[in-house]
Amino acid sequence: MPIKVDIVTRDRRLVSDEVDMITLPGSAGQMGILRGHAPLLSTLEIGEVVLHKGNDVRYIAIGGGVVEVRPDKVIVLAESAEDADEIDEARAAAARDRARQSLEENPPRDRKLQIEASLQRNTLRLKVARRRSNRPARPGPSFEDSPN
Ligand code: ATP
Repeated sequence: MPIKVDIVTRDRRLVSDEVDMITLPGSAGQMGILRGHAPLLSTLEIGEVVLHKGNDVRYIAIGGGVVEVRPDKVIVLAESAEDADEIDEARAAAARDRARQSLEENPPRDRKLQIEASLQRNTLRLKVARRRSNRPARPGPSFEDSPN
């Protein structure tokens, strides 16, 4: 039995779907949620959300947030959320490099925390963007499997 999943940010609803399983970057560690899970509220870290639906796997980078789990529904309110397919890798790499550069300039503590979070978000974006090519192939024999 599937579980309903909504992933929203201030700007948009990125996901409204039914999935077999969702994994989330909980503050106390990675959480795997199936239908029938006990209700809970948790904060989320900057990390990867993975939606499993049949043979399909969807990867999403989130910039932290909160999750409410109910037995039949998961609601994620994310600070930012991007699908692997929509991540602009050049933009993420540039932001990551800017953050690294800024850290070398010995910023004050508050600023340093912000920059470290930006570094983490953009390093994550690059990791999640690479998942694109790992998506399962469509059903049918692959080129390598073909006898010719
Ligand atoms: P930075 O890490 O550079 O400070 P940020 O994480 O604060 O960036 P913003 O510039 O505030 O990101 O992002 C504005 C919007 O753009 C958000 O909706 C975010 O999801 C999206 N976004 C940020 N970086 C990327 C990216 N590399 N590819 C696609 N969307 C992105």
